[in-house]
Parts: sequence; structure tokens; C-alpha cells
Amino acid sequence: MWDTFCDSMFPQSCIYCEGARIDGGNFLCGDCREAIQFLTEALCHTCGAPADISYDFPREDFQCGLCRKKPFVFDRARSLGRYDTVLKELIHFFKYRPQRGVVSEISSLLDRYFPYRGDELKGFWVLPVPLYKNKLQERQFDQAHLIADLIAKRFDLPMGREWLIKNRDTGPQAKKNKTERVKNVKGAFSVMDKNILVGKDLILVDDVFTTGATVNEASKMLKRSNCGRVFVFTLARA
Ligand SMILES: [Zn+2]
Ligand SMILES: [Zn+2]
Repeated sequence: MWDTFCDSMFPQSCIYCEGARIDGGNFLCGDCREAIQFLTEALCHTCGAPADISYDFPREDFQCGLCRKKPFVFDRARSLGRYDTVLKELIHFFKYRPQRGVVSEISSLLDRYFPYRGDELKGFWVLPVPLYKNKLQERQFDQAHLIADLIAKRFDLPMGREWLIKNRDTGPQAKKNKTERVKNVKGAFSVMDKNILVGKDLILVDDVFTTGATVNEASKMLKRSNCGRVFVFTLARA
């Protein structure tokens, strides 16, 4: 049992393929790490949805059908990769194990995804999508906060810690459809102090973008406080 415990905390082999041995402190083998494909152009300029090139004939300012109907209040959303295979496993692993090793896997992914210093992000503040603070969730690792921390360090930007507050437990969104998700998160966020947010450009960070219901609801509250632009960044896009 002790072996199983140690293995789950400090894996001896790659957490995805389970075959390859890995060096101490790592969680993925080189092959699996390389297999994580970044979401690059052509993407919807607004929400970052991958374009169907054969159908959409995307240009630089291409907008997907959904965004043309304007369902989102954030200005832009981008994700590092698709929520499948290796990245999905890494995020699941990350969720329940606050290990430095997983953090460094994510950090090196971000370094590869953002190979520049991001001068256009000067003046932005980084905000994690918050968890609802109760006893049960204290045990859950706050991934959004950790990813936000990495982004802030990467671009040398300040963090707006607790500027955004989760009012209640919204439970898992996974089994809900799009309409249910929107309803489920309605009113779930508030801001600590409206005055702090006035005119500030923000990068809102979460782990996974599925329908965008959560980040959009959070963005609504931020925009209501007359903030500047809201850019959303998530590690994965479902
Ligand atoms: Zn592997
Ligand atoms: Zn879009």
C-alpha cells in the first residue's frame, strides 16, 4: 500500500503511457510531452475555437458562428492545447496532487507555448477563476490559481488575488449541457472591490474552457466594474 501511495505521489513511470520510466521529479516521458499539440491558428479571433479550415476559410480576424452571435463578454480567449489524451491526464493528475513536479511540467509547457515576453500584455493584471472556499474544496488543489501564478511570473505581471470571489459551490459542470452550465454559474461570482478594477486590463485564468460559461460569467462581473479588456487563458480547451 505504501508503494502504491508513493507511486501516486512520485510516479516512477510516465503518468500517461505508464510504460516509459521517467527521471525523478518529472511526470511525463519525453514522447508524451512532445505529443501535446498546441492550439495554433486558425482560431476564432475572439473565443479561440479552432476553425474548420475546409469550411470556414479563416482570415486573421475570423470569428466563429457562435461569436458572431456575440454570446461572450470577454474580449478574447486562448487555450494552450486540446483537452484530450496527455494534457487531459496531466490536468486530472494536477487537480488532486499539489506536487511541484506537476507544476514544473505545466510551467515548461507554458514556456514553450509563450516563447516571447509578451510586451503587449504590459499593464495587465492576472486573475484566477476562484474556487468556492469551503472545507471540502480546501482539500482540492486550486489549479487555476497555480496556472495564474505561473502566467504572472512568466510575463512579470501583478496578480489580482481575491479580486474575484466565488459566492457559492457550483458543483461539477462536467455532466451539464450548455444551457445548464450557463444557469448553474449565474450569479456565482462577485468582485471584492469595484473601484480596484476600473480601467484595468485583465487576464482571467482557468484550467479548462468547455462552453466558456464559467469564464464568461466571471467576465460579466468584471466588466460591470468597468474594467478594461478581459483576456481569458486556459490550459486546455474541451
Ligand atoms: Zn509517456
Ligand atoms: Zn468564437
